Formats: sequence, C-alpha cells, structure tokens
Amino acid sequence: EPGFAARTARLDSPATIAMAVRARALRAEGHQVLSLALGEPDFATPHAVIEAAHRAALDGQTKYPPVDGTPALKAAIARKFERENGLAYTPAELMVSNGGKQVIFNAFMATIDAGDEIVIPSPYWVSYPLAARLFGGVPVFAACREEDGFRLTAPALEAALSPRTRWVVLNFPNNPTGAVVTLADLEAISEVLRRYPQAWILSDEIYEHLVFDGARHHSLAAVAPDLKSRILTLNGVSKSYAMTGWRIGYGGGPARLIRMMTRVQGNATSGVCSIAQAAAAAALDGPAGLVAEMRDTYARRRAMVVESLRAIPGVTCAMPQGAFYAYPGIAGCLGKTSQGGRMLRTDEDFAIALLDEQHVACVQGSAFGKGPYLRLSCATDDETLREACARIATFVAGLG
Ligand code: PLP
Repeated sequence: EPGFAARTARLDSPATIAMAVRARALRAEGHQVLSLALGEPDFATPHAVIEAAHRAALDGQTKYPPVDGTPALKAAIARKFERENGLAYTPAELMVSNGGKQVIFNAFMATIDAGDEIVIPSPYWVSYPLAARLFGGVPVFAACREEDGFRLTAPALEAALSPRTRWVVLNFPNNPTGAVVTLADLEAISEVLRRYPQAWILSDEIYEHLVFDGARHHSLAAVAPDLKSRILTLNGVSKSYAMTGWRIGYGGGPARLIRMMTRVQGNATSGVCSIAQAAAAAALDGPAGLVAEMRDTYARRRAMVVESLRAIPGVTCAMPQGAFYAYPGIAGCLGKTSQGGRMLRTDEDFAIALLDEQHVACVQGSAFGKGPYLRLSCATDDETLREACARIATFVAGLG
C-alpha cells in the first residue's frame, strides 16, 4: 500500500487532543463529562468583532489577501504593539498567520536544519517540541522548578544553551503552569541570550493580558531592545479576545525573518481568511473592557480551583499568576489503586482513571514535560469547575 514520509513518525498527536477525543467518546455513551482539557476561552467573541466581519464580507473583502496580512490588520497590530508593549514594528516586520501556531510553524520551517537545538523551558506547550522535531530540530529542555513558581531562571537557561542552539523559546505567562516572569528575570535571561548571538528567540506572549495579583507582563523585545533583531514576538487574538475559531495569530520580528516566514506561508497556505483579518483588526482596536472582564473572571476561578485542590489530601497546588490553567501536583496520590481497580503509577494513569471513573477530563503534566502533575483549564464556567473539583476530591478519597 502507499506509505508515509519518515517525518510523520515525529508527528505525535498532542495529549491534549487525545484526552478531548476520549472525553467525547464517553459523552457519546451518554455520560456527563466535565472537560478541563482544552485551553479554550468559554467567552463569546465580542459582538462588535462579529459585526466587523459581517461588514467586511458585504463590502467585498472576499478576494485573496496579501500573504503577510492585510494592510489594515497590520496597521492595527503595529498600534497594538506600540500601545501595549512599547514596541515599534514597521509593516515589513509584521506578519499574520492562521493562529499563533502557524507563526511558529513558519518560523521553524524557515530556520531549522537537522540537528539544530531548540531550547524550551519545561513544562512547555506541546506544540514547540513537536514543530521543532518535524523539521529535524532537537528539543533541549530548560527545567523550571515549582519552588521558583515555574519561572525560568538564567542559570537553568544557560545550562540548556550550546553553540548548536538555533532557537530559544520563551512563553510567559506560561501554558501549562501559568508562571509569569518578572522584569528582573527577563533582564537576567537577556544577559544570557547576549552570549549566544547565533540563536533566534521566540517570545510567545499570547497570554499577556491574563496576569493576576498585580503581576505585570513585560515584552522581551522591550526589555532588551539590543536583542530585537533576533526576537520573534508572537501573539494572537485567540486567548485575549475569545477568538480561537477565527484563526488569527501574528508575529513581529526582523524584516529578514518575516520575509522568509512569508515565503514559507506563501507556499503553504497563502494569506489568512480576509474576513477573519477584518474581525481581528476590530478586536485589536476595540475597547479593552472585555479583556479586563475576562482577566478578572479567570483570576477568580483560578483562586477557587486552587483552593479546592489544596483541600484534597495528597494534592499540592501553586497559585498561578497568569494564563488560565491550574497545575496541581499529585505525587501523593500515586502508588494507590482507584475505586475502579486501577493502579495509578503515573499522572497519565491518574488522568485516564479520573476521566473514566469520574468523567473529568484534564491532561497529565508529563505530556507537558513534567509529571506527576495535572493541567486543569479554568476557562470554563464556575459551576463546571466546582463540580469538577468535587469529583476530583471524591476520586482521590476513593484511592486505596
Ligand atoms: N501559544 C500558546 C502558549 C498556546 O497555548 C496557544 C494555544 O493553545 C498558542 C500559542 C496558539 O494559539 P492559536 O494558534 O489559536 O493562535
């Protein structure tokens, strides 16, 4: 039979998707499954944004858009970077892709050769190592420790760097831990990065608006302007404006990198949906009210979830400062048997048994590079979160 390319062996399906599929199957059997597995805001896209899309379609913005993004959206992105991040980018330093995910894909495809090392702070969003491997890159993980609030420290970064480093990936606020780095952290990290001038730097700031308890987000390129010619600042509207389905992400970086990424995208998918681009421009230029409302809601839910989890014997939980996940440790629950008769050796065993026996879907921390933890998405309604925490408590109480 016709076969597949060797590179597909490196194309794992992310554990996040695997859990969602398993949850869907249980739901199809008639179970009431509570899903805390996906990082998807439960808010609706703002009405004004949808109207802007409607208007764009009626106005005839229905032709092939430029590969790197419409001038109108790029102008809105430039204003956003200036206003919110103190970063000046010209149109040639910006591009629009099908979600932040394609920005990463374009960048890695444009720059990674077999054997190049991609330094990724761990725990990490699964797509970085998967994309890196697809192009023959070798992920090298820089450990972020729970006792440091899962922040990346300069020594941990330094230990992962080498002359073969092609990319350094930074993602704060972090998926899956919610860690936020401080200005001092970024200054120390920049000092280290200056010693490795051959490495590109990806600063994935897609959760920037979701920071709590007075924590502040800082853009790396603003903290270290001398490194700006090596930094790709990634952002998008999925998380900030509840627009996951519109598929708009964007990157700001040196013109020569953006040019090569545009060439990659032009050969793969061309310009992004013109109507979605009009919607994204309206979101970026719109009032900041929704962002603040979402942030306050996530902050409250996160505190509620963390408190409920901390009350469960055998479970520990750091208070995340950003994003919308809780990342509880479950070391105290391993080596035990669930009520359904399953021996829990790993966090994956725990997550699967929890789903099958209590119908709560989450993702094991080992899928993000650090077990035994769980990642629970708090981007769902209060009632679901309360009930999910109660079911987790029941599940743990049943361990013997
Ligand atoms: N970066 C991080 C850390 C994410 O968690 C996600 C989505 O889950 C993305 C980027 C990309 O999102 P999108 O492709 O929807 O823009």
